[in-house]
Amino acid sequence: MSQEIHPAVASLAAVLARRVRGAVLRPGDPPFAAARRVWNAAIDRHPGAIVQCADAEDCALTVRIAAEHGAPVTVRGGGHNVAGRAMADGALLIDLSQMRDVTVNPAAQTAMVQGGALWHDVDVATARHGLATTGGMVSGTGVGGFTLGGGAGWLMRRHGLAIDNLSAVSIVLADGRCLRASTDEHEDLFYAIRGGGGRLGVVTGLEFRLHPLAQVFAGVVVRPAAEARAALRDFRDFALEAPDDYCGMAVLTCAPPLPFLSAAWHGQPVLVSAMCWSGDIGAAERALAPLRRAGAPLTDHVGPMPYVQWQHLQDGGAPPGRYHYWKTASFASLSDRSIGVLAEALETLPTRMTEIHVQHMGGAVARVPAGETAFADRGAQFFVNVIGCCVWPEDFARLRDWVRQLHQRLAPEALPDLLPNFSGLDDGEVTQQLGAAQSARVAAIRRRYDPAAMFATPAL
Ligand SMILES: Cc1cc2nc3c(=O)[nH]c(=O)nc-3n(C[C@H](O)[C@H](O)[C@H](O)COP(=O)(O)OP(=O)(O)OC[C@H]3O[C@@H](n4cnc5c(N)ncnc54)[C@H](O)[C@@H]3O)c2cc1C
Repeated sequence: MSQEIHPAVASLAAVLARRVRGAVLRPGDPPFAAARRVWNAAIDRHPGAIVQCADAEDCALTVRIAAEHGAPVTVRGGGHNVAGRAMADGALLIDLSQMRDVTVNPAAQTAMVQGGALWHDVDVATARHGLATTGGMVSGTGVGGFTLGGGAGWLMRRHGLAIDNLSAVSIVLADGRCLRASTDEHEDLFYAIRGGGGRLGVVTGLEFRLHPLAQVFAGVVVRPAAEARAALRDFRDFALEAPDDYCGMAVLTCAPPLPFLSAAWHGQPVLVSAMCWSGDIGAAERALAPLRRAGAPLTDHVGPMPYVQWQHLQDGGAPPGRYHYWKTASFASLSDRSIGVLAEALETLPTRMTEIHVQHMGGAVARVPAGETAFADRGAQFFVNVIGCCVWPEDFARLRDWVRQLHQRLAPEALPDLLPNFSGLDDGEVTQQLGAAQSARVAAIRRRYDPAAMFATPAL
């Protein structure tokens, strides 16, 4: 953490304040302290100035002025990145929080989304027309960062990742030019945007394909820790054979105070099997029965509900302001050994709100050819996110050590690439986390579109 301001940023803040329509915040301005915070309280960075751009023109003007001054720039979407990649000490921060409009075209089944929108904005706007696209599982997540990192959500096995539903973006490049990128225009840039982790420019608009979807059959089944090993095996075997309509996640954690779970279990280690069926609702009961009936569930709370409701149900468990340390690992298959490691970890969770998410992909994600987008993990059947979380900063070092140790125990069977959306504080630069071929291609595209590395300021 440094409070030193890059000299170019110090000199351009006054120029920006005169020329852009959005607010320009400098250290010491009352709103600055709140505007520099991100979702993860462990990130404590001090940008040199913050511009809350009003629209794409403001973004272009800001970038042009920053380029003239040689100022380093970072971009903030929803501020949910656990490694705080939106922020760098001393740099100019382009904050897109005022750009959250979503325009749905129901006839064309598309949505135009501004670069600072959150998934809440998209899910609510599209639900009004009985439409949806693959979005974040917590509705406060930014559409921008989520999509630039691939974007894994409940609809991914049926409709692909967020990037697989992205038809075009509007982007402001390092020289201030505004471009549209798609498979027909600047396709190299569009390749890197889809999964390359960002830092190519300011994405001011994203155009998504939508799909008819009003209701899902979704919910959770909770099983005691003693059944974790068996439940993980059941989940793995079920997931590998399941139709694309099913998307599931096993969460190893201490039971939250769910109103439909006996209070005696609140705070006890459990396995929460979360599931979402986005196909024919009439077929869901039968299709999900094997997963729901196995073992002796403590509670089974699964049924039909509006998709938009399901998209908001996990929000309460992920408030901003807690201290987070995450690690991610992807797997071509989940062995009994890895399952044993995960089940044992449930017995030693460092805090009650720490969670281990075991998710599967496959389906439509795996059907997109590997070289088509910068997303490197098409071949991963499963990924595990170790979500270390504590309320007090003094617990952070212990939490981090526990997460690192668990991750090391999982490492022998993990694939080399990391999912950029879940990589953490000490996983380094995103480009290096993609597969070797993708990394080299994305790095070359970045050099082409941002030769002075304006957006490459180390955020870590
Ligand atoms: C509670 C929670 C739940 C999550 N759930 C999921 C999930 O279900 N699936 C999943 O795949 N990921 C999930 N994530 C991970 C999340 O998608 C990534 O952390 C993502 O980076 C967040 O995007 P953001 O815009 O909120 O982040 P920010 O921190 O604002 O930005 C992250 C990165 O994206 C860049 N960026 C953001 N917007 C733009 C833009 N418009 N133009 C250019 N660059 C931009 C930033 O510069 C930065 O490099 C979750 C994270 C949290 C904290």
